Amino acid sequence: MELHKSSLVADLHCDTALRMLQGIQISVRDTSGHVDIPRLREGGVDLQVFACFISTNHPKDDCADYVHRMLDTLEAQFERNKANIAICTKAKEAEEIINSGRIAGFLAIENGVAIENNLEELKNFYKRGVRYLTLTHTSSNDWCISSGDENPESFGLTDFGREVVKKMNELGMIIDVSHASESAFWEVLKVTTDPIIASHSCVYALNPHDRNLKDEQLKALAKNGGMVGINFFPAYLSKEFNEKLTNAWEKSKKEKETLLNKYKDDQKKRREVYHQIWEEIKEELKGIKVGLSLVVDHIDYIVNLVGVDYVGFGSDFDGVTFLPSGLEDCSKLLEITKELVRRGYSESDIKKILGGNFMRVFREVCDK
Ligand SMILES: [Zn+2]
Repeated sequence: MELHKSSLVADLHCDTALRMLQGIQISVRDTSGHVDIPRLREGGVDLQVFACFISTNHPKDDCADYVHRMLDTLEAQFERNKANIAICTKAKEAEEIINSGRIAGFLAIENGVAIENNLEELKNFYKRGVRYLTLTHTSSNDWCISSGDENPESFGLTDFGREVVKKMNELGMIIDVSHASESAFWEVLKVTTDPIIASHSCVYALNPHDRNLKDEQLKALAKNGGMVGINFFPAYLSKEFNEKLTNAWEKSKKEKETLLNKYKDDQKKRREVYHQIWEEIKEELKGIKVGLSLVVDHIDYIVNLVGVDYVGFGSDFDGVTFLPSGLEDCSKLLEITKELVRRGYSESDIKKILGGNFMRVFREVCDK
């Protein structure tokens, strides 16, 4: 507990911004979600990344405005809670906020569609304090191929995609390759002059999922001076869980095929059907438990492969349907520290994993 409290604890990814846009107050303890100020305090979280998620299918001419509305909500809620939380735009600023006893809120965007293929929009988001951009999501956008769409002909990034990477380097904005295809990953590394992150991904060797990173990618990330935030989603952590989830998904989807075809052109109705599918899957898989030690297995793997300087965690809280037992929300992060202690990690190594590694990248990219 003492070690956890004295460490800078950083979570590299949550999707709470969307809930806030829908009206949830970050100041109120609300167990229908995973993240709020009271529980961030309990979990000893010092820096929380708030990713503004936007779908690739979002109406093209409303993408930037939509993310600005989400940022408005974050700003307004943080302002109302300024005794507890403040936006950080530099590592130095984050440290000042944390030393004053508050939580540093880090603004991010998940999916490059937000910039509407326009570098000026990227600049606008930087000016508002956004400090990382996840290039793509589960389906590709105009300039970056998603890990969900990879095929032998994938080009990774377009010329414009390379311009985005260069502009992010120039501005001092962290490039996030979670959700990016392997081809995009390698293209980014060819262009970037700064360290990059995979904010919420796991290890492919432990679970061959397209969202996870292969050994060669992990080695290249380490060489680049970047890092990975281990995702808590059981389907990325565990091969067995992922197989069960995929089977349940296929089965439910098949049963709903007629409905999905019927609402082919009605996005709202389709979303309702998908919601039903998820509810059925939740019911079917609720008995299957994945332990939090699995998160630390993924951390261990990276430490053994490339060293202790390149790993942390990106929970994906409020963005996932399932979580490991013992890690049900952000108040439980002490459990990771306990498991690291149990496995014999030194205090200085634990501090690196809990937040030190992310702070190194943050400083290097954003404080220059
Ligand atoms: Zn994500």
